[in-house]
Amino acid sequence: MTSCIALIVAAGEGERLGGPVPKQYQDLAGSPILRRSVLAFLRHGAVSGVQVVINGRHQALYDAAVAGLSLPPPVEGGVTRQDSVRLGLEAIASQKPAHVLIHDAARPLIDDATIQGVCDALKTHDAAIAAKPLVDTLKRGEGGVIAQTIDRANLWQAHTPQGFRYDSILSAHRRHAGSHFTDDAAVAEHEGLSVALIPSNPDNMKLTNPDDLDRARRLLGIGALPDLRTGFGFDVHRFVPGNSMTLCGHSFESDVSLEGHSDADAALHALTDALLGTIGAGDIGQHFPPSDLRWKGRDSAHFLRFAVDLLRQKGGAISHVDITILCEKPKIGPQRDAMTKKLCALLSIEPGRVGLKATTTERMGFTGRGEGLAVQTLVTVRLPFVEGY
Ligand code: MG
Repeated sequence: MTSCIALIVAAGEGERLGGPVPKQYQDLAGSPILRRSVLAFLRHGAVSGVQVVINGRHQALYDAAVAGLSLPPPVEGGVTRQDSVRLGLEAIASQKPAHVLIHDAARPLIDDATIQGVCDALKTHDAAIAAKPLVDTLKRGEGGVIAQTIDRANLWQAHTPQGFRYDSILSAHRRHAGSHFTDDAAVAEHEGLSVALIPSNPDNMKLTNPDDLDRARRLLGIGALPDLRTGFGFDVHRFVPGNSMTLCGHSFESDVSLEGHSDADAALHALTDALLGTIGAGDIGQHFPPSDLRWKGRDSAHFLRFAVDLLRQKGGAISHVDITILCEKPKIGPQRDAMTKKLCALLSIEPGRVGLKATTTERMGFTGRGEGLAVQTLVTVRLPFVEGY
């Protein structure tokens, strides 16, 4: 496969959107704007890696926004957007990508088809950008009155991603360092490269003003999510000698431990499966095979976050989770509050939406004999209704 790295530019101050933090770190329907943008590329089959460029002062916000995602350390940007892109391009030089897709973090509604369109065009063009044909009639104003009507034929609004052959855009950026181009296509045009225009999804807007954030929320259908779904999950882990265990993301002392490839948190495994079930996204073993050494001893919160991200990427929201732990031991009651708190934090939902119960099986079966424990989970989620979805 031809390697293609997505460079996500998130170095701006983003103050026009208002709010307590720069816009790329603000929440959009349960997920930071930057995280949505990063995930769109991280999960795309045509993209081999993602590199984010940030403002060095935002490191803590960045860490929180991309928690659990497998990304290289961010690159620190420059004073202007153009500087930031150049520094990002320089930082990935050792990877020698064939292509690079440059994308504004503030366009979190980028869709798979637009990314694919730009990638496909790079097979036959030096460069290609997502762009929207202009439909409104264009007026040039002077002192509040129309001075001229401009022919809109062949006029496009430039979006991102903007894709390039890596070597050519890096040398173009080096040559024009310090100038003030407002997008990367302009840098390429200046070098005489041919840049193809690929129709962008009209929803791929740049979130700039508070109104844009409201519009994005509406597009994601938040507040009106009619597609109600339930998912079921089940998991079992065997007891082994030990002195602690982790359940629902909470570690506590216990006179037995759980055997497993990861941290053996059967509750988070069952919950992850239930969430994956609501969106037809397979099961935990398919995404994180036990044969893969990367998941050995892994905090299962990582698997859960993956499933939650997949759901939120589809505009989904978690309404409720219900968990039943079947075991003779350990006693769940003393751990319940800590477990619930941990689940609320992992799922970003309030305690009233988390049911956590335990029962014995009256000394019958494998749980009754104390060979291990089992967990059943049921989750309810809401998604935007899309016909043929
Ligand atoms: Mg398991």
